[in-house]
Amino acid sequence: MLSKQFIQQIVRLELPSTPHYECRHCGYSVEKDVDECPQCGSDEIAAYDLE
Ligand SMILES: [Zn+2]
Repeated sequence: MLSKQFIQQIVRLELPSTPHYECRHCGYSVEKDVDECPQCGSDEIAAYDLE
């Protein structure tokens, strides 16, 4: 018999991973894929997939 807590953990695991975006130049973290860094104006934005 599955507990509600166990089912909630499965649902949480199946959520899509949100990529993390960060400026390669100054390391500023941005919420989404932007054309340029709001901090330093660099167009080198790196995307990381967090698991
Ligand atoms: Zn930057």
